[in-house]
Amino acid sequence: MNTYKHMQSSSELASVLARRLTVLGSTGSVGAATLDVVRFARSHYGQEVFPLEAITAYRNADRLVRDARELGPKAVVIGDPAFYSEVKSSLARSGIEVLVGSDGLLEAAGRPADMVMSAIVGAAGLAPTLAALERGAMVALANKECVVAAGAIFRRAAEESRGVLIPVDSEHNAAFQLLDFEQSHAIEKVTLTASGGPFRTWSLERMASATPEQAVAHPNWSMGAKISVDSATLMNKGLELIEAQVLFGLPPEKLDVVIHAQSLVHCLVAYADGSVLAHLSAPDMKTPIAHALAWPQRMVSPARRLDFTEFSQFTFEKPDLQRFPSLQLARACLQAGGAAPTILNAANEVAVEQFLGRRIGFLGIARAVERTLSALSREVNSEAPATLDDVLALDGTARAKAREECELAAA
Ligand code: NAD
Ligand code: MG
Repeated sequence: MNTYKHMQSSSELASVLARRLTVLGSTGSVGAATLDVVRFARSHYGQEVFPLEAITAYRNADRLVRDARELGPKAVVIGDPAFYSEVKSSLARSGIEVLVGSDGLLEAAGRPADMVMSAIVGAAGLAPTLAALERGAMVALANKECVVAAGAIFRRAAEESRGVLIPVDSEHNAAFQLLDFEQSHAIEKVTLTASGGPFRTWSLERMASATPEQAVAHPNWSMGAKISVDSATLMNKGLELIEAQVLFGLPPEKLDVVIHAQSLVHCLVAYADGSVLAHLSAPDMKTPIAHALAWPQRMVSPARRLDFTEFSQFTFEKPDLQRFPSLQLARACLQAGGAAPTILNAANEVAVEQFLGRRIGFLGIARAVERTLSALSREVNSEAPATLDDVLALDGTARAKAREECELAAA
């Protein structure tokens, strides 16, 4: 076969790639990186490759308005109604529709974009992400909390709709690239790598007085506050184990975690014949974002490239579950299945918020999650919530209990 015949010119490729895009959470770390990929594609391919249907923000009205004026989406959503009149008057005469609140988010997700980037943080992204999947959109999924909280519902929606979930979380995007779904019987293990976070080498004593500033100062990745704290506790990797189970349908014993401080290898997939495939890239979210936006094609991205002469060490070590009990808690919830992951996620969101607000200490995060899980043991051991309303109800119960636990810890 003459492969050269199949090579596309840049403009042909741009037309094949072209898809209308909505970015939920466009002002966050992943959202802003997505808009950077959109801008880059336009200048690289010399045409609008990802025309924007809608972009959304919670409170960052300035940035939302600036991006809207520059990129011209058909609609914007401002989550917090307090900022509605500011956004509305700033975009008057622009022809851009301004929507508001959670209804606005749902409406944005339902608008006819081919692809929806789900980059809102936390359970707030759940309903719009599900709505996009159910109407048959391709969903580029960064928001891991929504599949942890409502795994069974997402799996069902992905099966029943024409929609597809394309992972953006770097380890899962790497796994998606490495997994041979035709040979799933031969997959022995999927190992997600973890950087170990800023406290990888800290003693428990030192971790006890860690501040929010120290916790969000991640050594390799630049990310939003919540996921940065999750990386410091290793809860992020725990949530990712559950995310991997939901996305790839693998049993818990085939999922593993290894600490790899350099964050260059993102996932390792071991096959029955002894082969292990690894995915490498610079720690730059623009690589998985570009992969997801272009899938199943590949596009040129503005991400940093790896230079193998620049680093001399690739290290791998076991996670220390004594210092990072959150990973253990998440593993137990993965194993338990049912309602456990929903409760874990909600309790963790509350505990991280309380830590960022300086109401509990760093080690208090895992403690609050653990106490919430044991206080709600009846709920933990029940079936997975069957509907979105059931998820939200259980999420609410777990949040209230976690808040109580945090108040007790703070008293
Ligand atoms: P971020 O805090 O930087 O941004 C969050 C976005 O969500 C913002 O646009 C914000 O306006 C919006 N938002 C927040 N609360 C909202 C609410 N209640 N209603 C509506 N919108 C709301 O977060 P991030 O780091 O970009 O992470 C986004 C998601 O992607 C998270 O689920 C995270 O776990 C996941 N993720 C992030 C990275 C990363 O490198 N940052 C990597 C992998 C996965
Ligand atoms: Mg990740």
